[in-house]
Amino acid sequence: MIIDEVLDRQMAAQPKEVFYCKRCVNSNQRPRLKFNAEGICDACQYADEKHHIIDWKAREALLRALLDKHGSRDGRYDVIVPGSGGKDSGYVTHQLKYVYGMHPLTVTWTPHMFTDIGWKNLQGFIDSGFDNILFRPNNILHRKISRLALELLGDSFEGWSYGMKAFPLHLAIRYQIPLIFYGENQAAEYGGLVESKYKSHDLFSDWVHVAYKGQRGVDTLIEKGLQHGRFTKKEIEDNAATIALYKLPALDQIEKLGLESHWLSYYKKWVPQENYYYAQKYCGFEPNPEGRSEGTYSKYASLDDKTDGFHFYMQFIKFGFGRCTSEASMEIRCGHITRKEAVALVRKYDGEFPKRYFTEYLQYLNITEEEFWRIVDKFRPPHLWQKVNNQWRLKYQVE
Ligand SMILES: [Zn+2]
Repeated sequence: MIIDEVLDRQMAAQPKEVFYCKRCVNSNQRPRLKFNAEGICDACQYADEKHHIIDWKAREALLRALLDKHGSRDGRYDVIVPGSGGKDSGYVTHQLKYVYGMHPLTVTWTPHMFTDIGWKNLQGFIDSGFDNILFRPNNILHRKISRLALELLGDSFEGWSYGMKAFPLHLAIRYQIPLIFYGENQAAEYGGLVESKYKSHDLFSDWVHVAYKGQRGVDTLIEKGLQHGRFTKKEIEDNAATIALYKLPALDQIEKLGLESHWLSYYKKWVPQENYYYAQKYCGFEPNPEGRSEGTYSKYASLDDKTDGFHFYMQFIKFGFGRCTSEASMEIRCGHITRKEAVALVRKYDGEFPKRYFTEYLQYLNITEEEFWRIVDKFRPPHLWQKVNNQWRLKYQVE
């Protein structure tokens, strides 16, 4: 039995007319993406600034000042870097430690199911000289949360993402480390909420209040799980310590520590392909030996979790664009490919079904194939999808 309710709120806010950026292949269905009068998306507008206007030397001076303020003189940990040893966290950690003399503690909120290459890359990362805490929440609980997230929000990753955001903050408080460094500001680099492009970091006081409001926190998933008999009350009570890690710490604890969470992409020009070469050279990073990831043409991004493909597939169902759209758009903005090449790539790979780990994914979530497809169909917006000869087809495609 699946739950019929839909709690996703982004989908209702989607514009009903679909169009694409004139310069990259971003769709206006990307949540919060804005366009200027010439039909150029905010990520492309930011890219102009990034490549032509921003004074990166001045930004680096700001970085040095920030790190000078936080750097420990006695070797204590002075910065937390969340990540799983992929190309981006490899680049960030190596830079902070070896170029800027920081003492990073790296933290991994475990993928649902490590891929072989993801596990190998995490080992390679630690072997290149970094301390790492790998946290694995109770997997009976986590699998149920992931299933509820798929059924109610159309993305099994949502439950995971609560912990991924909150856990580094809990660790910062526990170890009294007031600085967290992330790699890219996704909103600026890929589009949506691009006002944040002028910010080096988000203020927690702004962020905490919105982060778990409304329908999207772990509490809502648990409440629905209780209603539908997926959890017992006792199970929830007994796992209170684990559940607390999916929620942000109290704001007063964050403020007492003076915790700040910065994006390296504010201080240094962010080029994913160069991070890949860098991580390969210094952090034992290897691309996927099985070749390109399903749903796109790249073989070095988002490799660590067997369920990754389903996150991007559901994004394709809900918003009509997949991971190839995001990656190809980024490469246009970096000047690596033309728009024409990107359109061809998107038409070839976007929305490709991630069949490689499908059986394991179904087992992990404890759902049948039939239930999976019923959930998928629940999340197809009628303005994006139509049935042609009994097959679902997108009404619009980039051209
Ligand atoms: Zn664009």
